[in-house]
Amino acid sequence: MTAKGMFEYDEAMTDLVVAYCKERLALDPVPLDFGGQGHALGSVLTGLMRPEGNDAADVLRLFVDKLATAVVSCDSPRFLSFIPAAPTKAALLFDMFVSCSSLHGTSWLEAAGVVVAENQALEVIARTAGLPPEAGGCFVSGGSAGNLSALVVARDTAGYRRGGEGPSRPLIAISEEAHSSVGKALHVIGVEALIIPTEDHRLTGARLRAVLEHHPRTDDVVAVVATAGTTNAGIIDDLSGVADVAQERNLWFHIDGAYGGAALFAPSARARFAGFERADSFIIDPHKWLFAPFDCAALLYRQPNLAKAVHTQDASYLDVLHSGNPEEWNPSDYAYHLTRRARGLPIWFSMAVYGIDAYRDAVEDGLAIARQGAAMIEATPYTELVRQPELSIVLFRRPGWAKPDYEAWSARLLTDQIGFVTPTTWEGETVARFAFLHPNTTVEMIRQILDTMA
Ligand SMILES: *Cc1c(COP(=O)(O)O)cnc(C)c1O
Repeated sequence: MTAKGMFEYDEAMTDLVVAYCKERLALDPVPLDFGGQGHALGSVLTGLMRPEGNDAADVLRLFVDKLATAVVSCDSPRFLSFIPAAPTKAALLFDMFVSCSSLHGTSWLEAAGVVVAENQALEVIARTAGLPPEAGGCFVSGGSAGNLSALVVARDTAGYRRGGEGPSRPLIAISEEAHSSVGKALHVIGVEALIIPTEDHRLTGARLRAVLEHHPRTDDVVAVVATAGTTNAGIIDDLSGVADVAQERNLWFHIDGAYGGAALFAPSARARFAGFERADSFIIDPHKWLFAPFDCAALLYRQPNLAKAVHTQDASYLDVLHSGNPEEWNPSDYAYHLTRRARGLPIWFSMAVYGIDAYRDAVEDGLAIARQGAAMIEATPYTELVRQPELSIVLFRRPGWAKPDYEAWSARLLTDQIGFVTPTTWEGETVARFAFLHPNTTVEMIRQILDTMA
C-alpha cells in the first residue's frame, strides 16, 4: 500500500465494513457471547502486523470470528452484570457518522456546530435535574473522568467560597459507599477523603453533620460527594439532607449520578431525587442508562464559570480559542482534557429523533423490570430478595449457597448463554445481583435465570 492509498476511498472496504455494521444493528437479540472466559487469544493475532499489511476482508473476518466473539455483548438484554449498556439504534448510527466525519468537539473556534448540539443535550439533562438555565459543562469519557474534573473545581474554588484562602490540606467528605472512582480521584488530586458512615447504606445529612461537628479538621472540609444510585445496590443518598449541610458549611456539593442519575427522567422515581437540583456539580453517564454508546458521561456545573476558571488550559498557542465572544463555549474549559471526541453527538441525535418522552419511557421500563424481577424472586420458593430495589439493581440470595456456588452458577449461565449475571458482596455475604436497564429484558429471561437456581 502506498501512503496516499490509505486516504483513497475504497468502495469494496466500505461495503464490507458497512455490511457488517448493518448486520450487527439488525441482530435481534444480539448474542450474549463469552468474554475472556474459555478463550485462548494468545496466538490468534500472530503475524498480523506485517510491513505489507493484509487484505481488509481477512482482517475483518479474523475480528468477527475470533475477537468479537470474545467480548460479552453489554447491549444484550441478558447482560445483567456490572452496569449494562443499551445504546439506541439512532445513537449507534450517529456514532458512525461522527467517526466518518472526523467530528471533534474541543473548541468553539474549531467546532461550534458540534458544541451547540452537545450543549443542547447537556441542557436537557441539566433541566431534567432541575439546575438553573446557566448550568453547563461538557461530555467526558466516563464517570471517573467526570468525578475527577468536578472535584478539582471543588478543591480549587474553596478559597473563593470562603472569601479568602482555601485550606492547605483540604478534605472532601465522601460516604463509605462512594464509588471507587471517587476515592481514586481524591488520590490523584492529593485530597484526603473524610469517610462518613452511612445509615442503611445511605449517606445522610444527619450523619454528615454529626461527623463534621466533632472532627478536629472540620475547617479543612471543602466539599461533599453524594451518590444518586450506588452501583452495587442502586441506593440514593439523602440528597436534600446533604445539601442542607453543604449549604450551612459552605461546602461544594457534588453528586455522582453516573448510574442512577438517568432515573431523573422517570416520573415514578423522581421523588427519590429531591435535593439533586441543589448540586454544585453532578455527573450522569449516558453510556449507562441513557442509551448512548461508549464513551459518554455528562458533567454539569451549576456555575460553569467556576469550572472554567479552574480547567482552562493556558498555552500561548491556545490563546486564540478565547475570543470574548459571548456565545463561545469551549468544552475543553470544563474538565481535565483538551482534544476530545464529539461524544455527546450520538445522544443528541437520538434524543432529537426519538424525543424525550421515549427516554422517559425507556428508563421507566428498566425500573419496571426491576420491580417485576424483585416480585418474582419473592414468589420463588428457593430465592430471597435481599432488599426492595430503589432503582433498577436487585440483590437476591439462594439460601444455602456460598461464594463458590454463586461463581459456578454464574459461569454456567454464561456458558449456556442464558445470562451474564455475576455475584457481589452485601454486608459480607456473597449474593446474586441483577442490574437492569435494557428495555428488552423480559420476565421470561428472568424466569429462565431463576429456574437455574432451583
Ligand atoms: C460507573 C460509575 C462510575 C464510573 O463511571 P465510568 O464511566 O465507568 O468511569 C462512577 N460512579 C458510579 C456511581 C458509577 O456507577
